[in-house]
Amino acid sequence: MFAPVRGMKDLYGSSAKKYGYIIDTASRIGEKYGYNEIKTPIVEATEVFHRSIGDETDVVSKEMYSFLDKGGESITLRPEGTAGVMRAIVSENLAQSFPVKLMYHGEMFRYDRPQRGRYRQFHQLGFECVGDKSPYTDAILICMATEILNAIGIFDTKVLLNTLGDKDTREAYTKGLVKYLSRHEDKLSDDSKRRLAKNPMRILDSKDANDRAICQMAPLITDYLSKESEQYFQKVCELLEKAGINFEIDNFLVRGLDYYSETAFEFKPTRDEHRDSVGGGGRYDNLLSIFGGADISGIGFAFGIERLMLLIDDAKFKEIALKIAVIPVSETENEVAFQLLKSLYDAEISAEFIHIGTLSKKMKVADRLNCSIAVIIGEDEIKNGCFTLKFMNCEDKEEKTKVVAKSDLISFLKHIN
Ligand code: AMP
Repeated sequence: MFAPVRGMKDLYGSSAKKYGYIIDTASRIGEKYGYNEIKTPIVEATEVFHRSIGDETDVVSKEMYSFLDKGGESITLRPEGTAGVMRAIVSENLAQSFPVKLMYHGEMFRYDRPQRGRYRQFHQLGFECVGDKSPYTDAILICMATEILNAIGIFDTKVLLNTLGDKDTREAYTKGLVKYLSRHEDKLSDDSKRRLAKNPMRILDSKDANDRAICQMAPLITDYLSKESEQYFQKVCELLEKAGINFEIDNFLVRGLDYYSETAFEFKPTRDEHRDSVGGGGRYDNLLSIFGGADISGIGFAFGIERLMLLIDDAKFKEIALKIAVIPVSETENEVAFQLLKSLYDAEISAEFIHIGTLSKKMKVADRLNCSIAVIIGEDEIKNGCFTLKFMNCEDKEEKTKVVAKSDLISFLKHIN
């Protein structure tokens, strides 16, 4: 017997239903906000991720599924969606005019340590809006993300918000941060020691307990913000407040990937049992130009679909919609039953055709397939122009059976649906 590869899962039953429901709901809302869907390949040239995400990030330095294909070219299973979308905007020449607004969903791969809510193959649902730098754009995007969460039934999350400032801000802040962290270098984790030279801001994001304690006393980016960045961030906060978004400023939020600047955010569950963020994103300044496109700013975010699924009530997806078992008593009634089945489908009623075995076996199959009503068609029914309905989960004997005229059946079923 083969099991799925470690950290990867089969998606079926109520989970597959939840997945479809999330995508349908988000696509509907995305369209309202002007986003069009894009499907990029699951593999890209490895360089696409090296250039955009940054070599010092966990994703690129430790977690990518990269290998040489038969032609000797290094390719990578995408660990996130933004890089591929930026590559596509340039290579497909999609940036005829700005803003370009694209949404995507699909499999992502990271060689991470598997645990609840953390997989090696997982799914993201993401949105990118390129070519429009304004606090209004940032606020609208965060409003859309919140609307999606609410529409799929998730209300207990808050937005953690930070600014990473502009280039000048980050340069000044990095100097201050390195000065402080260098004084504690001997106590930093090995990863953080390495990052101190290459990408010190990422140390703020470290999971190591010692690093975190040291960072508690580190200087804050807010003390280094350029006037423009400060005003920009204030405006984003003001707009979110006006829109009634539940947000909290977290100056340690630097996000895992290198390309962010100005607004950065994450969606965090407020229930204790779910601590992992369900999604995150931020503004990026030069991502498109890395791929040869215009030097233009964009903003985007991605939800982790498995994390969203953990927060959605299972019960909602176990509810069984009305489903009819069409059961001919013997082979003689098969054709009448077949015609009835066809008319049920034409009337948009869910149905199963159960015609093999004894009547009691057929009833058992109907039960197993979660049918709520069995429509029995025997010799008498055909003679009398009617059908016998058996309500599958009804305890009351009187109510369990009902005879309905052939001509009334569809309207009767529509009425109880
Ligand atoms: P990131 O691209 O790292 O900003 O992640 C965005 C979202 O994707 C996170 O907030 C998670 O919801 C989800 N995510 C990231 N990594 C994983 C993983 N290994 N397994 C499941 N979900 C993940």
